[in-house]
Amino acid sequence: MDLHCCQECSYYYDPQDGDPDGDVTPGTDFRKVSSEWCCPDCGAPKSAFKRVDEDEFDEEYDDDDDE
Ligand SMILES: [Zn+2]
Repeated sequence: MDLHCCQECSYYYDPQDGDPDGDVTPGTDFRKVSSEWCCPDCGAPKSAFKRVDEDEFDEEYDDDDDE
């Protein structure tokens, strides 16, 4: 499963975490997230998200994970 990044605010959708506040159960692949769903941080539509290649996000994502 792939991470997806919001192009508006750089929020990451992580399929392992889902978005419980947005009715997305942890473990939900981004492709299966409702098309009604939008970014919990900035409200951008699902179409504003782009898939992130692991090589690209590695360091940045590790930082986020420590919080
Ligand atoms: Zn966003």
